[in-house]
Amino acid sequence: MSTEIIKHKIGQPIEIKPKVLKSQTELKAVPDAELRDLILQTYRSESRHGHEVISEKGDAGRKNLWVTDLRRCPREVYYKFYEPSKAREYTEKGLVIFADGKLHHKDLQWRLEHVRLADHPGGYLKDPELGVTGYYDDLVFVGNEDDFKVYDILEIKTKLSGAATSIDQADYDQDQYYQYMAQFSDWLNGHRIRIRGGRLAYKDKSHMSDEVYFCYRLERDDARIAEIRNYFRWLKEEIVDKKQIPSRPYEYESTECTYCLFRDFCWQGIVIPSKPAFIADESTEPPEQELVDSMASHYLKMREAKVEAETEMKKAEAVLMKYFKATGQGSLAVADKQIMRSLTKHTELDGEFLFAELSKQTKNLRQLLNLWKALTAPKASLVQQAIKDGKIDAGLFEQAKHISWIELLRVKKNKGE
Ligand code: SF4
Repeated sequence: MSTEIIKHKIGQPIEIKPKVLKSQTELKAVPDAELRDLILQTYRSESRHGHEVISEKGDAGRKNLWVTDLRRCPREVYYKFYEPSKAREYTEKGLVIFADGKLHHKDLQWRLEHVRLADHPGGYLKDPELGVTGYYDDLVFVGNEDDFKVYDILEIKTKLSGAATSIDQADYDQDQYYQYMAQFSDWLNGHRIRIRGGRLAYKDKSHMSDEVYFCYRLERDDARIAEIRNYFRWLKEEIVDKKQIPSRPYEYESTECTYCLFRDFCWQGIVIPSKPAFIADESTEPPEQELVDSMASHYLKMREAKVEAETEMKKAEAVLMKYFKATGQGSLAVADKQIMRSLTKHTELDGEFLFAELSKQTKNLRQLLNLWKALTAPKASLVQQAIKDGKIDAGLFEQAKHISWIELLRVKKNKGE
């Protein structure tokens, strides 16, 4: 439609009002747990990760290291080899994430059909010296060289929003290790295929931003490959061959432990305070329902008012601070009160420095930790006592302090009013 016609039509009187189908206030529908469970069961039944399979595998355990072990806790690697039956089952959410990941992979492989080469036995790779194996996602065609075909090794990953915008070290390492392993592949050599470098294709599965795909080209990094192989050598010699279990490298609440299938087993015997169960206290008399209802709506109103008041306070504070800054005045009289600019001291301890200095003084770990606790606890009396007891020089403590000043507004009532 040309601009002329549009102008003409806009100028014409409206002949008919628009109509939009309104949403209902109440739908004739209820949550359907039956269908949801039916769907979830399909994940469980098709899964390679069901408990039966894990128990069966438990008798055999892992036979060799996998490239993906580079992103795994070394203690978990030990469990995979020697205690696999202690793993908990995958959660349903975990199984859904696996299945979704596979779909994204397939979809992308299909989209790259004209430049890719996958679903062939060459995907399987091995480091013959360390016995580490892996299976790359795909090969991306780069060109011909002599009578070889040249490809980059492609890793496809799905990510949550924000995680796709920079390269994850473990993904980089995985691809680098494949580039190294490719030289030993009979299939690749037999098909006269040379590997030039790597590619990473990240898909933001949350679709939270306009960009969905984030792709990176990787140059072969021999220094990093050497580090990766050294790490695997350590895993093989210390964990796998000598059957030594390493200490826990992560805290209980860490992301690594939270998603680890061995968490319950790994932390057995260590008391972790859990959230107290919320149960009714029968000795407490409940308030009248009428009072509860009125306080509930009052509470909601007050919360809204609080947010509004806080926003307004911030605006007023900004203006007053600007006034004090511009005039050099320290206070402003308003009716019977003074609004004053004040500075509050904020002290932070340089923990690294303090710990290094304390470690020079005491080699006894328990004493060191007790002193550390006393000095870093927010109780001034403990610090003063430690200084008086000669456990730390006050000068050293001062050196560890980082002091900053925070500007605040205070309100004071005028004297005699
Ligand atoms: S629970 Fe944590 S420390 Fe234990 S194996 Fe798993 S990741 Fe490692």
